[in-house]
Amino acid sequence: MLCELTAHALHEKLKNREITAVALAESVYARIDEVESHVKGYLTLTKDLALEQADRADAGFQKGDEMPALAGIPIAIKDVICTKGVRTTCGSKILESFVPPYDATVMTKLYEQGVVMIGKTNMDEFAMGSSTENSAYQITHNPWNLDTIPGGSSGGSAAVVSADTAVCSLGSDTGGSIRQPAALCGVVGMKPTYGRVSRYGLVAFASSLDQIGPFTKDVTDCALLLNAICGSDAMDATSVDVPVPDWTQSLINDVQGLKIGVPKEYFTPALDPEIADSIQRATAVLEGLGATVEEISLPHTEYAIATYYIIAPAEASANLARYDGVRYGYRNENPENLINMYKKTRSEGFGEEVKRRIMLGTFALSAGYQDAYYKKAQKARTLIKSDFDAAFEKVDVIATPTSPTPAFKIGERTADPLQMYLSDVMTTPASHAGLPGISVPCGFVKSGLPVGLQLLGAPFAEEKVLRVAYTFEQNTEHHRRKPQIQTNGVVSS
Ligand code: GLN
Repeated sequence: MLCELTAHALHEKLKNREITAVALAESVYARIDEVESHVKGYLTLTKDLALEQADRADAGFQKGDEMPALAGIPIAIKDVICTKGVRTTCGSKILESFVPPYDATVMTKLYEQGVVMIGKTNMDEFAMGSSTENSAYQITHNPWNLDTIPGGSSGGSAAVVSADTAVCSLGSDTGGSIRQPAALCGVVGMKPTYGRVSRYGLVAFASSLDQIGPFTKDVTDCALLLNAICGSDAMDATSVDVPVPDWTQSLINDVQGLKIGVPKEYFTPALDPEIADSIQRATAVLEGLGATVEEISLPHTEYAIATYYIIAPAEASANLARYDGVRYGYRNENPENLINMYKKTRSEGFGEEVKRRIMLGTFALSAGYQDAYYKKAQKARTLIKSDFDAAFEKVDVIATPTSPTPAFKIGERTADPLQMYLSDVMTTPASHAGLPGISVPCGFVKSGLPVGLQLLGAPFAEEKVLRVAYTFEQNTEHHRRKPQIQTNGVVSS
């Protein structure tokens, strides 16, 4: 099947005219017909648009034009990224019928490359969650075991790449929403340095943390997708004007001389022992290839979750104030007066978790509590960042588990938000510090579920992160394994 290949392999075939972009898009939609009713990764399919885009790419290839690396490549987009003329729900009832009048900067860049957009993917409402169970529309199932969650909040984007119903996808990561679902679905997922990618057109959750990034089947594709989306943007004042190298130059199969730090604070009793084993084996592989692996300490790690669950909800409470029934989407139809219209619209339009975050955030910012919670959290954030600054004086890259557990059962943590929040314990520290981080497949637990290795770099040191990730991948086989999706008891691989 064409849809199971990587973007770089497909580019060669497109370039040599062995295949057409239309045939490739059709192969993806055929795969969608086969497994999507079980995986449920998509909220919207854009087949007409995709075939039109594929046609255009084919015309370019036929003329013999020098085509960009992603021309004709089928891609899925998390439904939190604005797509002009294509419904963008953020997984929320409140935006059920919202059709953006403009494209996010990343979309403009991808369209310039000539990508083929397959559809918009399911997600936790407004990217709040770690399992994609907080979507107002559907639950996405992990292709490796349909009874388990795909991770979140970009669970749809991770699941469709894993299930081969897209070649690659975009997600967003505020506290781990790219890295954690990538780990749980056995694919590559990367959060670039905060500021590397424009947030213009990314519906805001927590603006000081949000970053867009790729999901791919291998590290080479990750570099290609980064090439397409990085760069400063006049429409996002937090995007940073630093040179963007060609990331494929970082795909060097050699870690000799690189120092890799393994922070002891990540190996707590809460870490699944099978995952700890996988990570240990992964760092041993890197050591065997000539890297120096040493234990390091990031002493304020334990405060990352508490800090995150003050700062992210505080920013969310401000960002989500705009959904008032006047400017966007859903509105209650029979309010008694204006205030009552706001109340009813927001009560009916937002789900449980979003309401919880708005309340937490409003409380943390309220007069009398702001110093005790919000200001204190900002100070803790600085301490967490200083830990990383000190560590990167000594090491090039930090290696940790991406998630403390493999994918858990659907429904297992929905009743206990705190339990759900603990899924983010390994990913939120790097988010606070704005660091680049990748998750790459590094093994499987006995039950057959994938494990992810998280590699973190200093700000703007994506090159080193990609180099270590690439070397690990080139010397291991984990990324080659595909899930066997159980469709009505029939295995569909
Ligand atoms: N799981 C985290 C949360 O619920 C992170 C989400 C994200 O990165 N968007 O906030």
